[in-house]
Amino acid sequence: MENNRIKILDSHVANQIAAGEVVERPASALKECIENSLDAGATKITIDIKQGGIELIRIRDNGTGIVKDDLALALNRHATSKVQSFSDLEQINSLGFRGEALASIAAVSRLNLSSQHRDNEDAYQIKADGGDLQAEPILVSHPKGTSIEITNLFFNAPARRKFLRTPKTEFNHIDTIVQRLALSHFEVAFRLKHNEKVIFDSKAANTQSEKEERLNQILGRDFLNHAMFIEFEAAGIKLHGWIGTPTFSRSQSDMQYFYVNRRFVKDRVLTHALRQAYQDVLFNGRHAVFVLFLSLNPSEVDVNVHPTKHEVRFRNSRLIHHFMVKGVHEALAHEKPTQTIQTKPQITEPVTYLPATTPSFNQTPRPKPAQIQEQLAHYAVLAEAEPKPTSESRTESIMAHDTPPCLHKQPEKQWLIEENPLGEAIAQLHEIYIITQNKQGMVLVDMHAAHERIVYEKMKKQLAENGIATQLLLMPITINLSPKEMQVWQDYREAFSKVALITGEAGPHSIVIREVPLLLKKSDIAQLVKDVLSDLIAHQQSTRLEEKINSVLGTMACHGSVRAHHRLSIPEMNAILRDMEQTEHAGQCNHGRPTYVQFSFKTLDGFFLRGQ
Ligand code: ADP
Ligand code: MG
Repeated sequence: MENNRIKILDSHVANQIAAGEVVERPASALKECIENSLDAGATKITIDIKQGGIELIRIRDNGTGIVKDDLALALNRHATSKVQSFSDLEQINSLGFRGEALASIAAVSRLNLSSQHRDNEDAYQIKADGGDLQAEPILVSHPKGTSIEITNLFFNAPARRKFLRTPKTEFNHIDTIVQRLALSHFEVAFRLKHNEKVIFDSKAANTQSEKEERLNQILGRDFLNHAMFIEFEAAGIKLHGWIGTPTFSRSQSDMQYFYVNRRFVKDRVLTHALRQAYQDVLFNGRHAVFVLFLSLNPSEVDVNVHPTKHEVRFRNSRLIHHFMVKGVHEALAHEKPTQTIQTKPQITEPVTYLPATTPSFNQTPRPKPAQIQEQLAHYAVLAEAEPKPTSESRTESIMAHDTPPCLHKQPEKQWLIEENPLGEAIAQLHEIYIITQNKQGMVLVDMHAAHERIVYEKMKKQLAENGIATQLLLMPITINLSPKEMQVWQDYREAFSKVALITGEAGPHSIVIREVPLLLKKSDIAQLVKDVLSDLIAHQQSTRLEEKINSVLGTMACHGSVRAHHRLSIPEMNAILRDMEQTEHAGQCNHGRPTYVQFSFKTLDGFFLRGQ
């Protein structure tokens, strides 16, 4: 019976349980410490990491410091200098306020906290070992400011330790955290080292061009070439930052930085608003790139929603939503400078792209026929001998016939229906689907999905037989990459070359593409490589080479395929159908979605209660 009685947990155990919420991995411990340094008014933060933070995390700042008598308190749970009453929570201006981070970290590591308060001449240090405090602070030599040294993270929490990934992956998370904080605190100098190697070093940025230099360091040089600075204010809410033009979209949402009162957040309301603002200019499935700061009265937003503070709750979320959609949408609509929207000074580096074969959607909602013709040259060749109608000639014939010519039953095409499982293409629906008639009835084909499968299978076949046919580029393409992209490219470099994308390092932040698979020569290769990289960053594929190749192949096929919203001629559509019939697994794209649906006469008749 005794065992079933309720007992208050001793603080040791309570801290370890709480640590689970706050300290998920080395990066989350580091985040809390950097936030403490920022709250202490530091202008310089130096971070040393060993083995992805599993062995060591050391942060040194030049902030206000902690007085001797408060050192032990700082490691206590619910000990904070930032709020005193519940009503203070209404006006939070600091990043921390829960008073539990240091206690949680100390509970699951060996921690040294050293500090010299700015009004004192002496520095003191306190040590904790798995939450056990060393009795008294000892005198040490330390400049004004604070250092925290965390070693052996999770040494006493084996369950947590098991979930740690490789040092490399853990360091990636750390890097992400430092970048996020560096983007919202331009005025602070940051320096990050991993295993003694300097990874990120950025001096305090106060002018606009210094800030842009930091953006370049973090997002890669291409971002600013495709971004505009926006700034607007209404009803006490202010939004400013950089938004990428739709041409700089990505296949992942990995370059979206949103801050509310300088706190990085992932918020549903904001994400939705941004998506809506970009809606008519961005393709489905593409993601915008932005670094945006929303500032509003702290009483309008509740940051105490989750221990990691990544979520917020707005008092008036509809107003915020409306404000964001309207502002960003208008900025995108007027890509030219106005009173509120300032364009960035050009920081230009030579960037060479192949002539874009994918249209730029910010200017023309629909692709130009000429570009599609170019992209579809492949199908034009496959298409039957009959002269390929240009869009003009099609329009003419539509006017001449009064009914769309393709809807006429042409007797000489009967063999198309008789002999081919997918039958004869008769029309394109909303530039997404191909409608065909076959022996069984009607088929609806998703042309992007179908083409993706065809390209993928072809590449796989070619690869198996004799390697992929390649084309040497007359003008090599240079692409600027962000540090993260650069690192992933280095990791996957061999995989790229296995699929005939021959790339090389062009500089510390750029690569050059010299040779591409023949199959993809009509694609926007620079965009393609960036998309593949961002997919790899997001999904961190297995290291097995085979898998790497297939995943690169798969994404390449997907991004290199005919997109929905391309107008095709009838012969081009028929050529796709014939290709599908020749292709293995043609019934589904390489993401497993179906590529076509058969409607039998029975189904069709059923719609109209025919023959019942
Ligand atoms: P919180 O940040 O929520 O107040 P923490 O556990 O993170 O809680 O920190 C506890 C207290 O320790 C802080 O309120 C602050 O007074 C002090 N502190 C922690 N880190 C620093 C630092 N780098 N510089 C100055 N004071 C610090
Ligand atoms: Mg804190």
